[in-house]
Amino acid sequence: MNLILLGAPGAGKGTQAEVICDKLKIPAISTGNIIREALKNGTELGQKAKSYMDAGALVPDEVVIAIIQERLAQEDCKNGFILDGFPRTVPQAEALEAMGIVIHKVLDIEVPDETIQKRLSGRRVCEGCGASYHVEFKPSAKENVCDRCGGKLVIRKDDQPETIRERLKIYHESTEPLCDYYKKTGKLVVINGQEDVADTSALVLKALEA
Ligand code: AMP
Repeated sequence: MNLILLGAPGAGKGTQAEVICDKLKIPAISTGNIIREALKNGTELGQKAKSYMDAGALVPDEVVIAIIQERLAQEDCKNGFILDGFPRTVPQAEALEAMGIVIHKVLDIEVPDETIQKRLSGRRVCEGCGASYHVEFKPSAKENVCDRCGGKLVIRKDDQPETIRERLKIYHESTEPLCDYYKKTGKLVVINGQEDVADTSALVLKALEA
């Protein structure tokens, strides 16, 4: 099954992508994680993306489209995949279609802006494996240490309050129109993402069975 997870930054797409990945044994692909990895490794892509990412802006369409095209061509995507954070603009969705990629379902995880602000400001991510935590809602067993790989937990640069506001603005302007785009195809399922993580996961898994 080829899936897309839509939703504002901090809606919980990454966490739900992991849940689906465990259940369906298909890879979860996060363009944000791919770009952060490139930044860490000092590659050309990382250099290109850095200023946009730090400011909370979107990386240009042609850059992320090339990333996704290369990633989806890999062997592990043959039996399906979950896209987390792509597409984020209508031209990106159109590019996916132009590649001949069939999408079976699009799950839109809806969370109000105030909740997003609270979630993102408490978010911590592992600099080793990218796993996501929250100081209040999903703490690691040992403070600032990743449960999964023992890596150090850090605050993302783009999770600063000013940058969060900018990311939400961009989300409403550029990404929200994708809900209408996919509604027209009949593939959109809206999920209430403002309750507990486990409640959202239950709704997500139910949506996949339907
Ligand atoms: P994320 O981890 O999904 O919140 O992504 C972090 C940042 O990476 C975003 O704020 C953008 O700067 C960049 N990014 C990730 N995915 C995309 C995309 N599909 N289009 C444009 N920029 C992206």
